[in-house]
Amino acid sequence: MESIWKQTYEIASRPPLCGDIRAEAVVIGAGMTGILTAWQLQREGIRTVVLEADRIASGQTGHTTAKITAQHGDILADFVREKGFKTAAKYVRANLAAVKEYERIISGEGISCDFEKTDSYVYGQEEERMKEEAKVSRQLGAPAFFVKDISFPVSHKSAVRFSDQAQFHPLKFADALARSLTIYEKSPVKEVEDHKVITPGGSVAAKHIIFAAHFPFVNFPGMYFARMHQERSYVLAISGAGTIDGMYIGTGKKSYSFRQYGKWILFGGEAHRTGENAEGGKYEKLKRAAEQFFPGCRVEAAWSAQDCMTADKIPFVGTYASSKPGWYVASGFQKWGMTSSMAAAMILRDQICERPNPYADAFAPARFSVGEIGPVGKDTGTAVKQLVSPIFRGGIRCSHLGCRLVWNPDEQTWDCPCHGSRFDRQGRKKEGPAQKGICCKDAQ
Ligand SMILES: Cc1cc2nc3c(=O)[nH]c(=O)nc-3n(C[C@H](O)[C@H](O)[C@H](O)COP(=O)(O)OP(=O)(O)OC[C@H]3O[C@@H](n4cnc5c(N)ncnc54)[C@H](O)[C@@H]3O)c2cc1C
Repeated sequence: MESIWKQTYEIASRPPLCGDIRAEAVVIGAGMTGILTAWQLQREGIRTVVLEADRIASGQTGHTTAKITAQHGDILADFVREKGFKTAAKYVRANLAAVKEYERIISGEGISCDFEKTDSYVYGQEEERMKEEAKVSRQLGAPAFFVKDISFPVSHKSAVRFSDQAQFHPLKFADALARSLTIYEKSPVKEVEDHKVITPGGSVAAKHIIFAAHFPFVNFPGMYFARMHQERSYVLAISGAGTIDGMYIGTGKKSYSFRQYGKWILFGGEAHRTGENAEGGKYEKLKRAAEQFFPGCRVEAAWSAQDCMTADKIPFVGTYASSKPGWYVASGFQKWGMTSSMAAAMILRDQICERPNPYADAFAPARFSVGEIGPVGKDTGTAVKQLVSPIFRGGIRCSHLGCRLVWNPDEQTWDCPCHGSRFDRQGRKKEGPAQKGICCKDAQ
């Protein structure tokens, strides 16, 4: 089933790139990150071209729940402990600025995209933790409040509220910005040279190359494959469930996400590392949970999506690698890519315009913290285990780096547990860093 966004809105198609052209900047990928970055650059007078492998917003952006909030779970007290006050403050302030920037663009451009100001909540069982999260969030500059009573069916003891956040229809918004941009669809970038990107139909030569392809697919330099994994989760749009005020996410692995869109409640959960759903049944589990919270509700749309998870839980935004000064990256949004993509677009705009940005160093891909050692080791360990496992047990390999793929019965796809590439039953690539499909005979 298509996402509720795709069921309710269609973006007109654009032709593919045909021939060799020049621009000042070329953006790879027309999801929220690519569109926002191109739009910000274009506003600065930088001639920008966007190349999209498939259709505008056909990736994760078309399958998000589209909450625009700087509240990314209950992470800020931990961030202060692990990364220090300054980095935590930069992280949350960059995202608060992103919420404001959405509001500014939407009102300034007169965009009709069902944008609504609302509060966001993270709910949890540990009252002391919630109290600390609220206190620390306020110290960092967020409009945060500890609350005990939220009008909500999920069992909880307490919550942290961020006031003045927002929600919208991501495709309506993306389409409005895309109208003023030069975007070529069905134009997958296959090769990237120092100042040129190449698609099957032509090339774009440009001083600045921005990787906004969700997963930065050039393995060397950068080695992003060793620093991120992907996590998938599932969403239902249910009707007959009444209405809820605000946007919600629970703490812990088994938590649920809720928001209202029109007559539907968007109900999400059942997250897992991509490539680790051999048993299936995620939609059924989610449906059972929805019926428990909202007896008699009806499922009107069901879909899933995935996002890149960095080891230290902060996205990678900035120069791709020191050996490629004209290349930029924005990835690793931890399932909070609405504000993170806006923060990224503003940081990349400032870097390309050679202006200071107050938050850039917190997101710099070249950072390295002690906190990364354990999780990076775990990600690399998973990759190595998957890479060698076919030698002993056979299996279908990913065309990216040869990891053993796992069949996901919920999506009818072969999914890679290392870096999140996915392939359909015919072996065609659906998403992820892999650049080509897998052998059809193997896949069926
Ligand atoms: C279930 C779920 C719910 C979520 N809900 C929220 C939420 O409520 N709020 C929030 O802030 N975040 C949310 N997120 C995260 C958010 O949706 C993503 O972080 C965001 O959409 C990522 O946008 P993007 O532009 O980076 O990637 P994408 O939207 O995937 O765009 C990347 C584009 O690049 C294209 N591409 C790839 N390779 C190439 C190539 N070689 N050449 C050309 N083009 C290429 C792809 O086709 C794609 O269109 C959610 C994530 C999940 C999984």
